[in-house]
Amino acid sequence: MSDEATCLFCRIVRREIPAKIVSETPDTLAFRDINPQAPQHILVIPRRHVSSLNELDDHALIGKLTAVAADIARKEGFADRGYRVVINTLADGGQTVDHLHLHLLGGRHLKWPPG
Ligand code: AMP
Ligand code: ZN
Repeated sequence: MSDEATCLFCRIVRREIPAKIVSETPDTLAFRDINPQAPQHILVIPRRHVSSLNELDDHALIGKLTAVAADIARKEGFADRGYRVVINTLADGGQTVDHLHLHLLGGRHLKWPPG
């Protein structure tokens, strides 16, 4: 079976698993994290399967994902307070779902450095 068949986030893209979808573009999907770490915690993903940042070949895609994140922050009303965008990558980065995703976190003051 291909990665895409079993991948959790590909299944959300195909609407096989429900998600609270926040925004959609031809190349991206954004939905609320099921286990939010901040009052606003949204995941922005490419529709097509890319397993991690290490496998990204289309660098324009990162521009699209970050533009969507900034757009959501504006539309949800927390852009002016500030927010954080994070891409966890593989084991040391804490990546648990093997489909590239950008975390958009906001709505509270976020500490630095992260744990
Ligand atoms: P990471 O640890 O960076 O791979 O992030 C994966 C994120 O996906 C975590 O924050 C999870 O809470 C989130 N997550 C896992 N399953 C779902 C789901 N079905 N819907 C929404 N978010 C999910
Ligand atoms: Zn996938």
